[in-house]
Amino acid sequence: MQQQKDPMGALALQNLQRDRVFGRLPAAEQEALLRRCVDFGMQLAAKVRDCLGVPADEGALEQMLRAEGIVVDRIREDWNLPYLGEYLAAKRQITLYMPRIRAVAAMLETAHPHRLDGHPLSMLCLAHEFFHHEERKERGAVGRVLQLENRLFGIFPCRHTVAEGSEIAAHAFVQAWLDLPFSTYSFAQEIAGMDIRKEDIR
Ligand SMILES: [Zn+2]
Repeated sequence: MQQQKDPMGALALQNLQRDRVFGRLPAAEQEALLRRCVDFGMQLAAKVRDCLGVPADEGALEQMLRAEGIVVDRIREDWNLPYLGEYLAAKRQITLYMPRIRAVAAMLETAHPHRLDGHPLSMLCLAHEFFHHEERKERGAVGRVLQLENRLFGIFPCRHTVAEGSEIAAHAFVQAWLDLPFSTYSFAQEIAGMDIRKEDIR
């Protein structure tokens, strides 16, 4: 598998730098931390690959998740949420918002034909949310892949969590596990900026 260093790397670094604690670190340290997030996702993918194999299609992936005790809930109505799916740790549940996923998949296909290389967007969302389940097993909570030392009021040492680190790791995980010829990171950004109108949602 080829890791797409750039432009995904540059975009990821830019997003991490929005965090004030991360943004104050020296450039070399920032790059090393970004690498660590990507490596975390790729190593977790290798581990999952060893344990579960690689799903041939979306049905096989869903079956794997169910065998892991994860409930997959596909919401058929539009709830007007800004995201496509989410993982609820307390319920061990992955929720997919199908009307929004379909609308975004259609818009992506129009903007960049064959961008998803034949992979259903809902499958990529399932794999992404499964990362958050696995991440929680490793780190005790979702969103803790990147934690930095900080000082509260400039005095008291405390841990500062950079949630974007987990997202970067999640996208690296999906690419490595499913052996994708592209990273989902850059188009996640694109999706966030998409103007999804009511009439696009079916
Ligand atoms: Zn995520």
